[in-house]
Amino acid sequence: MTLTSAGSLTGQSFQAFLEELHRKYQPLTDGAIANYIPELAKADPDCFGICVVTKDGHVYEVGNTQTLFTIQSISKVFVYGMALQDHGRDYLLTRVGVEPTGDAFNAIILDEQSKRPYNPMVNAGAIAVTSLIKGTGPTERLNRMLDMFRDFIGHDIFVDVSVFMSERTTGHRNRAMAHLMRNFGMIDDRIDEALDLYFQQCSVTVDCRDLAVMAATIANHGINPITHTQALDSGYIRDLLSVMYTCGMYNFAGQWSHEVGLPAKSGVSGGIMVVVPNQFGLAVFSPPLDARGNSVRGIEVCKEISNHYGLHLFDSSMNCTRFVQQLGTKPHGIDGNSNGDGKGIGTLSD
Ligand code: GLN
Repeated sequence: MTLTSAGSLTGQSFQAFLEELHRKYQPLTDGAIANYIPELAKADPDCFGICVVTKDGHVYEVGNTQTLFTIQSISKVFVYGMALQDHGRDYLLTRVGVEPTGDAFNAIILDEQSKRPYNPMVNAGAIAVTSLIKGTGPTERLNRMLDMFRDFIGHDIFVDVSVFMSERTTGHRNRAMAHLMRNFGMIDDRIDEALDLYFQQCSVTVDCRDLAVMAATIANHGINPITHTQALDSGYIRDLLSVMYTCGMYNFAGQWSHEVGLPAKSGVSGGIMVVVPNQFGLAVFSPPLDARGNSVRGIEVCKEISNHYGLHLFDSSMNCTRFVQQLGTKPHGIDGNSNGDGKGIGTLSD
C-alpha cells in the first residue's frame, strides 16, 4: 500500500488515503450487528462509509456516506451539551458524574455514594441528562431537541419511528435504570416521558456525512462549519470533549485513548464520531460491532488515520495545528460536486 506521507498532505492525497483505507477494511467482516433492538438487526453489514469535514467546511468522503442510520448513543454528546446550556455545569454535576465506569454502556450501576450515574456517555447517565431537558411538555422538549440536532447537522432531520418503537417496546434494561435513578431521587416522576425522549434522541436519523459535520461543529467551537450557525455555546465544548475522551468508547475508552488519542463517541448502529479539536471532524459508519458495542471497521480506520497523521493529542511528531491549512488545497463544499454514488467525491484533480 502506498500512502502519501503526512509531510506532503494535500486534499488529493488525503482523499486517496481515505479511499485506500476503505479498500483495505471493506473485506474485514469481524463483528456482529446489534440485535437487542430488533429493528437495528436489519442493517447491512457491508455498508461502510468514511467522512472527514474540516473546520472550514472541506469534505472528504468515501463509501456509503449517504446511507441513513439512527444516531443511537452518539446523541448523548449533543443532548449533554443541551442540558449544560439549560442548567449550567455546576448543576449538571450534581445529577451526573464525569467518571468512566469500566463497565458496559448498559450496566445498571450508580455511584455508591452520590447515587449519580457515572457519566453522561453511558445509558444511565444519558437518561438522567435527557430527563433534565427544559420545555413545557413532551412536545416542546422533543422539538427543542430536534432543533438542536438540526443546528449541528445543518439540515432537517427526523426520528425513525420503527427504531423508536422497537426500542421503546424492548428497552427493559433502560427502564430498570430509570426506575433505579427514580428510587434515589436522581430523576423526577416523569420516568416514561424521559425514556421516550431518550429513545427518540437515539432514533434520530443521520448519515456518515452528517456525523462528520456534527463532529466538525464541535471541533469548530460549536459553530457549524457549513451553515455557520452557533449550535452550542463554545464555553461547553470542553465539557463535551472531556467526557468523550474519557468515556465515549465505553469500556474500551482507555485503550482507545491510548491508541487513537482523540475524543470520540460510538453508537450501537455502527457509527463512530471523532473530533480533532480545532481541526476537523471524522465519522465512520459500519454496522458490525465488537463485544463492547464499537464498530470494528470504525476502530481500525480511526487508529490508522490518527497514527498516520500523528493526530494523537499527546503525539508531538507532527505539527497538528497545520493540518487543516494543508488540507485546504482544494475546497469541496457540502453542497458541492459529490458524485453521490457512494464512492467518494472523485472531483479532486490536483
Ligand atoms: N439506544 C441504545 C440503548 O439505549 C443506545 C446504546 C448505544 O448506542 N450504545 O441501548
